[in-house]
Amino acid sequence: MKFEAVTVENIPLIHTGDNLPSIICDNLELQDSDIVIVASTIVAKAEGEVFRLEDITPGKIALEMASRNGKDARFIQAVLSRSREVLVEKPFMLVTTLAGHTCVNAGVDESNIEDGFLLYPPVNPDASASRLGQELEKLSGKKLSVIVTDTNGRAFKIGQTGAAIGIYKMKPVKHWIGEKDLFGKVLEVTEEAVADELAGAANLLMGEGAGGTPVVLIRGFDYYCEEETFIKEMYRPEELDVIKKGLRCLQKKVE
Ligand code: GDP
Ligand code: MN
Ligand code: MN
Repeated sequence: MKFEAVTVENIPLIHTGDNLPSIICDNLELQDSDIVIVASTIVAKAEGEVFRLEDITPGKIALEMASRNGKDARFIQAVLSRSREVLVEKPFMLVTTLAGHTCVNAGVDESNIEDGFLLYPPVNPDASASRLGQELEKLSGKKLSVIVTDTNGRAFKIGQTGAAIGIYKMKPVKHWIGEKDLFGKVLEVTEEAVADELAGAANLLMGEGAGGTPVVLIRGFDYYCEEETFIKEMYRPEELDVIKKGLRCLQKKVE
């Protein structure tokens, strides 16, 4: 088995209002069942999620947190404005975003943007992926899947990887439950995070620095799904999330 992963060349620096689907289509001959993977950084830029650090006024909670964790209160305000819950305050801010994704700094980024500016993550990454996907399908006449990615750290292991934060026309999790192993035993628990695995593969090609390659095409991995799908299918239900429960207990002890 094999699939291809290639960077889409000639993507310019993206600014507010840029038409990403037409920029992508100008540089890519799409085929049915292609998976177009786009870094959240350029989605956020196109959606105008660019803020000047000096224009941000920190509120009371941001100022209090800044006195505890030593970070810039304006940066903390930016993170809080996109968070529904802070799970860790120090030495880094681990939060659950308004869209339900749990990551450091809510995905607010200072890299790959001009000095003095912050890039907020797309507000609703599934909606961003859907808009992109629908427009790409219109322009190309093909049936496609889209993943919007960000680079995230993980618990327990050093090193960041690509993670899916928004999807279009693909099931984020493959359920192996009920399938048989090599010896005929029925699998009982395995669920594979396919959206994150594809995001990881794409992230390898995107890089994190000055590569200028925020779009990757995956071809030959047939994973197209006709139905509407949502990234929240990947988020563990609150009652089963023992790590979050543990972090909340720790927060209480610190307070
Ligand atoms: P994130 O993982 O979504 O936070 O995105 P990164 O900041 O890690 O960038 C991923 C890739 O996109 C890198 O190759 C960057 O050089 C590239 N990139 C970021 N912004 C732009 C842009 O406006 N235009 C182009 N062509 N590449 C960009
Ligand atoms: Mn990022
Ligand atoms: Mn990245």
